[in-house]
Amino acid sequence: MVDCTRCGGKPFYTRRYSGETFCAGCFRESFVEKTRKTVSKYKMIASGDRIAVAVSGGKDSLSLLRILSEIYRPRGNEIMAISVDEGVAGYRDEALDHARFLAEELGVKQFVVSYKDLFGFSLDEALDWKEDRDVSSCSFCGVFRRRAIDEAAVRAKASVVATAHNLDDYVQTFMMNLMHGDVARLGWLDPAYADLSFPVRRVKPFMEIYEEEVALFAFQAGLPFQSVSCPYMHEGLRSEVRDYLNTMEANHPGIKNVLLRSSLDVISHYSHSSQKESVPCSVCGKPSSSGLCNVCRMKAAIEEHVKLRA
Ligand SMILES: [Zn+2]
Ligand SMILES: [Zn+2]
Repeated sequence: MVDCTRCGGKPFYTRRYSGETFCAGCFRESFVEKTRKTVSKYKMIASGDRIAVAVSGGKDSLSLLRILSEIYRPRGNEIMAISVDEGVAGYRDEALDHARFLAEELGVKQFVVSYKDLFGFSLDEALDWKEDRDVSSCSFCGVFRRRAIDEAAVRAKASVVATAHNLDDYVQTFMMNLMHGDVARLGWLDPAYADLSFPVRRVKPFMEIYEEEVALFAFQAGLPFQSVSCPYMHEGLRSEVRDYLNTMEANHPGIKNVLLRSSLDVISHYSHSSQKESVPCSVCGKPSSSGLCNVCRMKAAIEEHVKLRA
């Protein structure tokens, strides 16, 4: 590897799509710059915002908590960590410990909400309902997680909630929506999409950063990597899409960036229509496409199932 493009120091990482090589210090600096640039480009955070960071305890969310407190606390923004306990024995405990340690180290308040409190069942308990049904653990969990994060953000009186979705997550989700025939839902991915029924702005400060670089940042910052992976993670399609995109990127450096640009272009065309087509859920009042939101629909099916078994 050649020397650091910026300072001539010892090479640490080469960003293949731009041809730049960084030493450890310049990589960190460039990572912080990229995050800051994304935040300002999409006007994600304003002065005085109370920022809740959704911290699952994985490397991405720990990195996000670290970096947002580094950038925005000196500017007077309040930072909080919010975590969701899905109730997955073993797995969640370790991740929540990582989240708690980092929150304590940084001196930020942590809010934890659990599926059990919010919905009346843990993910472990809900999962035998799911068996034999055409719904993956991840999409099932995604529906409830998002609601739980929203709920925690409201309780924490945040004005912004930041999640650690990176560029890879973003492009994968876009492609999966296409593959599921879910074009109408693309509008939800618009970084400028304003959910009028929800008082807290949702932002993704890592959406323009490759997953590889987030992992490298976490490693460099000495953030813990979770050793146990979610026992329910068998989302076939997403891992195929991830592998495919990684192969494409290896052969054509920068192609993920191009896909992000294209995705955002397409998404902006659907943004207004998803706003128009949403109607309030008859149970909880949150936006839905059919008058019953996904959370309430799945929750009712699970409760019915639990009743039958009791
Ligand atoms: Zn350097
Ligand atoms: Zn509902």
